[in-house]
Amino acid sequence: MTQVFDRIAIIGVGLIGASIARAAREFAAAGAVSLYDASDAARTRLRELAIGDVFDDPQAAVADADLVVLAVPVGAMNGAIAAVAPALKPGAIVTDVGSVKAAVIDAVRASVPPHAFFVPGHPLAGTEHSGPDAGFATLFKGRWHVLTPLDDPRPDYAEAVAKVGAFWLEIGANVEQMDAARHDVVLAVVSHLPHLIAFNIVAMAEDLESVTESEVVKYSASGFRDFTRIAASDPTMWRDVFLNNREAVLEVLGRFSEDLAALQRAIRWGEGDTLYDLFDRARRMRREVIEAGQDTAAPNWGREN
Ligand code: NAP
Repeated sequence: MTQVFDRIAIIGVGLIGASIARAAREFAAAGAVSLYDASDAARTRLRELAIGDVFDDPQAAVADADLVVLAVPVGAMNGAIAAVAPALKPGAIVTDVGSVKAAVIDAVRASVPPHAFFVPGHPLAGTEHSGPDAGFATLFKGRWHVLTPLDDPRPDYAEAVAKVGAFWLEIGANVEQMDAARHDVVLAVVSHLPHLIAFNIVAMAEDLESVTESEVVKYSASGFRDFTRIAASDPTMWRDVFLNNREAVLEVLGRFSEDLAALQRAIRWGEGDTLYDLFDRARRMRREVIEAGQDTAAPNWGREN
């Protein structure tokens, strides 16, 4: 265990922020942790949880911090950086955990003062729960943390990027660097579109007049319930993701709709080979995900029923 920062400050302490606070302490990656959340209820709960020093004023929270982590919804990043910027100390590093990168860079970059550094990032880890109680120290273990560094010509910038990477490695993540635009397209495929499909299927099933809601709930184990888990994710977070990754999502969604129409045609015309080939390809992808350590091979994800 190596202490990477003397003090970190976390702005927005829900699932991700509380997990970083817990992990930073458990893996001793930071000497001390300051916490600020805009919600009074969250701050009260954080004092009870005792996972860091809780501040009622965002500027007091960051004043002594070497690393400031913005862990608020994507649409709140601009307000969050504006609230802390005047109090950032010389050499402070600001990072974020937003699920979208180009829009967050646009929202944050201009407000970071010239004596500080901004190293954008996104942990590919999460659950469908939110709020301070949802956080746990091992959330990032074995998961990717993608850094999307800026084109910042200052000689110290590379060192700031390296320190942020070292912090995430220390709390269990694998660290990768990517261009922000590329990140947004990749995430549209592996995360944003799957969530959109889950939200849509669950809402559609609730709307279908030919089945009652009680039947949907009763027989949900046959595939539907895995969609309900994804669709239980925080509506504020996901609204902000789609509003801020519009182009990439629309591009991927266009391709998805075309392919879905082709599947529809294959079903209509009884083209078994077309269906089989596609399902077989999809099944192989599942094996690759397991081999890459990104999921368990246990039947039904290790559930007992
Ligand atoms: P969360 O559990 O809802 O926590 C966010 C917290 O930030 C809430 O307590 C919220 O308070 C607070 N907040 C909102 N605006 C604020 C502001 N201006 N200043 C200070 N606090 C503020 O959300 P989360 O799941 O941790 O997500 C946080 C970020 O991580 C998002 O950008 C999301 O895209 C990203 N992310 C999420 C996941 C995931 O699976 N959940 C995974 C990777 C990355 P209120 O509730 O009162 O608004």
